[in-house]
Amino acid sequence: MKPSCAALAVFALLAVPALAAPAPAASAAADEARAIVSELVACGTRNSLSSWTDPKRGIGCGRDVAVKRFGEIAAKSGGRLKVIVDKYETSGPRTGNAKVPMENVYAVLEGTDPLRQKTAYVVSGHLDSRASDVMDAKSDAPGADDDGSGVAASILSAAALSSRPGGSRATLIFAAVAGEEQGLLGARRLKEWLGQQGYQVGGMITDDIVGATNGSKDRRPRVFSEGGPDGVESPGREMARRLEELAGRERVRLVFRRDRFGRGGDHLPFVEVGLPAVRFTEPLEVYEHQHQDVREDKGVQYGDLIRFMDFPFLAEVAALNQAILAELAAAPAPPKSAVLGGAVTPAAKIRIDAEPDPDRKGFEILQRETTDTRWKVLRTVGEPGQVVLDNTSTDNEFFAVRSVGKDGRKSLAVPCVPAPAPPVGSVPAKPPGR
Ligand SMILES: [Zn+2]
Repeated sequence: MKPSCAALAVFALLAVPALAAPAPAASAAADEARAIVSELVACGTRNSLSSWTDPKRGIGCGRDVAVKRFGEIAAKSGGRLKVIVDKYETSGPRTGNAKVPMENVYAVLEGTDPLRQKTAYVVSGHLDSRASDVMDAKSDAPGADDDGSGVAASILSAAALSSRPGGSRATLIFAAVAGEEQGLLGARRLKEWLGQQGYQVGGMITDDIVGATNGSKDRRPRVFSEGGPDGVESPGREMARRLEELAGRERVRLVFRRDRFGRGGDHLPFVEVGLPAVRFTEPLEVYEHQHQDVREDKGVQYGDLIRFMDFPFLAEVAALNQAILAELAAAPAPPKSAVLGGAVTPAAKIRIDAEPDPDRKGFEILQRETTDTRWKVLRTVGEPGQVVLDNTSTDNEFFAVRSVGKDGRKSLAVPCVPAPAPPVGSVPAKPPGR
């Protein structure tokens, strides 16, 4: 029997996974996000140069909110989640080049697999806020969206991922850092601290200004990722691509830029040293609400107020964070390297180098047209070593390799880089084609 158009239409509706009405869990997360942001805003200002000791007003009050929230989640985690307050001194032009005290808060969910637990996947929002003058530690600076929203996303992610039975192979770190407005000082410290603890950064997300949609028709968060050299791009771009594969194009808008034009954020200290790091930001920013003293002027309300927020959207950002963090922390490590050879021959050759891993099923060889942005799976192989792609030129496409776990989880892709050139004066085994 031929199905009717109506039946096909129903089937088509059921087949679209991501666009269903928000689940009850999502609305609970939105309520939770509202409660967290309200507590942060109640601190009056969270300028990094404000008081660290006054429990009622200043960034110390904001730190207390993060410590309390992470602590509640840790208490329910059966001792798996650990809360750390990292106190440090730092300086920069926006501290008047004077050393000032700052504190970051981390919640660490240690990986369960000795092979993977020294790799950390990190999500961070910034605790600090600012008024019109970045050096003004006195005026109100509610920082609901910038970046109470990012701190809330980090806390929501800690709650969701630390309540999963079994945990993940790699370590997950949920951060709320200070000093962003003072020049990314807390994120620089976070990177340094991770190194001191012996962690490799497998991936890093900064959630910054992720709490409003401002009437935008497109409700997808923007995910910014750095470019790179020809055919290689950047690890952050691979992280963005993997997120889009997991979530669908309906749920994220990739922007292939390191950040918004001429601006920056806490992912940059990671991007600058070649680590996989991306920035989440809401679809449409309203500049009257950012970096402004709270005031009304000619009928316009300025300031970063809670009433401009969209908490279901913020909960969706946290859900997207959780999707990519859970995937990468459960997956095998990416290949150590993928080298493309076979130029001026009829067969491209890819050499995959990877550590042994009993939970890995194999590797996917990925391919894309140089004009395309998204990978396609060309073939799968079981073991590292050389893969010969018959009748495939090295010249016309880009290639990459990623690891696949026995449970189907996939690592970030590692783009193929050229084999080192032979020494000057060496003679090719066969004459090259013309
Ligand atoms: Zn910010």
